[in-house]
Amino acid sequence: MHTHFMEKIVIIGSGCAGLTAAIYTARAGFKPVVIEGLLPGGQITTTTTVENFPGFPDGIEGYDLIDAMRRQAEKFGAQFRAGVVEEFEHDGTLSRLKIEDEWLETRSLILACGAVPRYLGIEGEQSLIGRGLTACATCDGAFYRDVPVCVVGGGDSACEEAQFLTRFASKVYLVHRRDTLRASRIMAERALANPKIEPLWNTTIVRYLVNDDGNVRGVVLRDTQNGAERELAIECVFMAIGHDPSSHAFRGKVTTSSEGYILQSHDSTATNLAGVFAAGDVADSRYRQAITAAGQGCAAALDAGRYLDANV
Ligand code: NAP
Repeated sequence: MHTHFMEKIVIIGSGCAGLTAAIYTARAGFKPVVIEGLLPGGQITTTTTVENFPGFPDGIEGYDLIDAMRRQAEKFGAQFRAGVVEEFEHDGTLSRLKIEDEWLETRSLILACGAVPRYLGIEGEQSLIGRGLTACATCDGAFYRDVPVCVVGGGDSACEEAQFLTRFASKVYLVHRRDTLRASRIMAERALANPKIEPLWNTTIVRYLVNDDGNVRGVVLRDTQNGAERELAIECVFMAIGHDPSSHAFRGKVTTSSEGYILQSHDSTATNLAGVFAAGDVADSRYRQAITAAGQGCAAALDAGRYLDANV
């Protein structure tokens, strides 16, 4: 195992926050290194049309938006490398990152590692991922043509995914634990107006039913009001119940909330560690939008640049 030479800025994550930080720091001449993470391009690559990113009146596909951001960062000299951070050390000045069999040292670090989808935590659930259980309608929706499926959740993601899945599925049940949607009004209205979407209010999944091939064939639902249980035949469950911040490698050193969101200073993107900044979904439990992530990526880039100018 060897230590890579010292970098000025390393950015962890290649979603909207990381790529915006890369554009700004690269354009400022810092030659940032972007560690792409588990899902290069971040969560927006798993959505369909993005309608609310300013500048695209006709919408833009999530993948195309990320591709353009990445090319913009590369044009200014940002370097990309595959991998995830396995260990992190900070000695008061420098950050050290273990990525596969290498340690990378850097004077400043921007944590833009995003968030990962949540599942229900039912026994055996993890083994069903990819076998009729998924958190990505864009990735897997087309596999379920002319069969019934369900989406779990009541937020914008659940409504968006349900709406998207009606292109393929014969029927989309929207399983929500309450009787009102959390989603924004426009998204909720669109979903509820779609004749292929049937909301199942006050309902949770308590068990997955699996066929002989090990694939989901249905679920057992429970009415949260009276506890009554019933089976529902569906071929895929699309989970849309929110996300958890991907801060695991940094916890214990970088201060986080009890839910794992990295805490920023009240007036900047600085964390509790010198030279370490945070941006996007890993630090944001409140807004979680592509544009707010991009905005924070910009702020973290400016903060890191000022830190380097003052300290190196
Ligand atoms: P979210 O707004 O946090 O909604 C999560 C939903 O899952 C809630 O309805 C919640 O129920 C439900 N839920 C959470 N844990 C559950 C559990 N254990 N069992 C059953 N249900 C559970 O998450 P999101 O929909 O992923 O949206 C995240 C952010 O991204 C939001 O700010 C949203 O506006 C944004 N977003 C925007 C767009 C867009 O504008 N195009 C698209 C997608 C997402 P309760 O309501 O009862 O809490």
